[in-house]
Amino acid sequence: MHTIHLEQALKTNQWNLNDHQGLTLIQSPLLSRYKEQLTHAFTTRIGSGAAPAPYEHFNLGGNVPDPEVKLDALANRERLCAVLGANHAHLKVPGQVHSGTVVSILEAQSKPAMANVDGVSTNLMSVPLLLHFADCVPVIIYEKKKQLLAIVHAGWRGTAQAIATNAVTLMVNEWGAEPAQMVAAVGPAIGTCCYPTGDDVVEQLLLTLALPADGSSVRTKIVESLVKRKAEGEQPRPDLKAFNAMQLLLAGVPEVDVCSFCTSCRPDLFYSHRQSGGKTGRQGAIAMLQPSTR
Ligand SMILES: [Zn+2]
Repeated sequence: MHTIHLEQALKTNQWNLNDHQGLTLIQSPLLSRYKEQLTHAFTTRIGSGAAPAPYEHFNLGGNVPDPEVKLDALANRERLCAVLGANHAHLKVPGQVHSGTVVSILEAQSKPAMANVDGVSTNLMSVPLLLHFADCVPVIIYEKKKQLLAIVHAGWRGTAQAIATNAVTLMVNEWGAEPAQMVAAVGPAIGTCCYPTGDDVVEQLLLTLALPADGSSVRTKIVESLVKRKAEGEQPRPDLKAFNAMQLLLAGVPEVDVCSFCTSCRPDLFYSHRQSGGKTGRQGAIAMLQPSTR
């Protein structure tokens, strides 16, 4: 089972960059197949901004003390909604604290407690969901039959808490969703190229995959494929995008589209926590279910 999924989890696709009224957005080819039912986009830093450096590009993150940056981020969120034809008044933005928590949104007007939440899911049409990123992995999940949507923020902590799996489980429990009817996109995030980390981090990530027994050749192959090392004795470099893809595939999601962009390798396109040394803006992952036109 694991080895079948491994190949798909490691396969990345070159996603296209497109200009949308001055904003450069990235879309998953797989999710774009359902564009009549689902609007989605991953933003880049390309697009106007009005805040001082390092937030002078298109920044959506307002969690900074500077009121000028906050105001600019709020204006940029509004602009992003306008460009995508989404109702900004209904925009839902969770707080994001590197938790494994996903909540459902059942009423468009509701303001659920989302301060300590890193994933949101809804069955509501025309309610846009937005999360912020600067290296962490954005995941958008769409359930075709029941018309459901989820977005999660998966840094290593969220990935270690299997937040993508938690989103699938929540949709199953809340609405009777079927994983077999889901498709998912794993967006631009830090790659193994730029992500040396600790052995303890790797151990926690591996626990989410319910791997075959210690010492088995299947286990060895999976670990070697998902955790790179530049040389013997060097820090391990987990492939966070592939870990999230593996979690989704193991949960029964048949198709997962993984973006090839590394946020740290491309400061021209993305905000990157690692590349910037910590002080930087945020790009977004936004999605919204479209009311059926049929
Ligand atoms: Zn890189």
